[in-house]
Amino acid sequence: MSLVEATSSSKAQQFIDQELQYSAHNYHPLPVVLERGQGVYLWDVDGKRYYDFLSGYSAVNQGHCHPRIVGALVEQAQKLTLTSRAFHSDQLGEYAQYITGYFGYDKVLPMNSGVEAVETALKLARRWGYDKKGIAANRAKIVTVTGNFHGRTLNVVSFSTDPSSRDGFGPFMPGYEVIPYNDLTALKTALEDPNIAGFLVEPIQGEAGVYVPDEGYLAKAYALCQQANVLFIGDEIQTGLARTGKMLACDHEGVRPDILILGKALSGGTLPISAVLADDDVMLCIRPGEHGSTYGGNPLACKVAIASLEVIKEEKLAERSAELGEYFRDGLRALNHPHIKEVRGKGLLNAIVIDHENPEAAWELCLVLKDHGLLAKPTHGDKIRFAPPLVVSREQLDECIGIIEASLETLK
Ligand code: PLP
Repeated sequence: MSLVEATSSSKAQQFIDQELQYSAHNYHPLPVVLERGQGVYLWDVDGKRYYDFLSGYSAVNQGHCHPRIVGALVEQAQKLTLTSRAFHSDQLGEYAQYITGYFGYDKVLPMNSGVEAVETALKLARRWGYDKKGIAANRAKIVTVTGNFHGRTLNVVSFSTDPSSRDGFGPFMPGYEVIPYNDLTALKTALEDPNIAGFLVEPIQGEAGVYVPDEGYLAKAYALCQQANVLFIGDEIQTGLARTGKMLACDHEGVRPDILILGKALSGGTLPISAVLADDDVMLCIRPGEHGSTYGGNPLACKVAIASLEVIKEEKLAERSAELGEYFRDGLRALNHPHIKEVRGKGLLNAIVIDHENPEAAWELCLVLKDHGLLAKPTHGDKIRFAPPLVVSREQLDECIGIIEASLETLK
């Protein structure tokens, strides 16, 4: 707590104390208290402005409080917000037609948080495995990979390889086989089991520290799945929606997942909106009453998701992300800084790996970055993710590279 006290104003400290007292301690936030956001910027309760280099874990690709998205939200909020799926609404059909056309799938199943969409995809794959592939009852398995992050439910942490996600939460759900990420030989071997229904993978592992697999991994993994009659399930919750320089990270290798999972930026950071897309052969395996969510597909979410997707296309955010991402990585590499072991990423999903004998160096650097007006957060100890909203400009990136360079200088 001494760091918190040392770097926060007394006004900010009051908010922090209140949160610590009454809210569960399931996060370890940077000591900054935010009250306003616009585009690439956030402001704290003392009026200090920051560049946001986390973007709500890539939920705010369109920039904070995008007027078009907020406009859609306010307009629909004044008309109708929730019907439940017990009744039809005048928004769901339009949204379903829009998003399926946008990504080229037959159907969408709307959910709320990312992890719920992952759960939905896993249920769909199992059901497809029984109904279509002919797997014997209760024998279906899903292949996942080391270093995965797909959310926090008991089922999803059952196949996590991160001790902080799993330890102390067992017993775990059976039916998963975890193989090394970026290992096609391991995948080929795993797929020999006729009970495999699906292969769940992040095209780039975001939470793990922005691990980009070898070129060709996704395309070859997809081909192996096809040969084995196994569904390729792409979790694009963090990598999707223009973050990595294409609409989907799978687009880099021309892969069309059999089940596509989206979340985060589907609402531009305004509401929890997630979606699972698949063709009829898979999606129609789930029938009325077998899956759902009270808020999934609500009229407010439908309107907001359409606006969020429109902004991504109209503002050419994928193209921006591709071009500016390269520019940013080049800028960081040109620093040639002894404390940067590696710069990696695609589009504007990037990370640096800190090289320092102090295991707290990445955290301490983030505190200095904050003081210099840039917000970022370490992941898994020595890595810092840099993922600004995709509306960031080249000039702003120049300024941010300057901030990063100056901050690195303070690392002793
Ligand atoms: N899948 C991936 C790849 C993610 O990055 C995340 C969140 O960071 C999730 C799933 C879980 O999403 P949520 O936190 O909305 O449940």
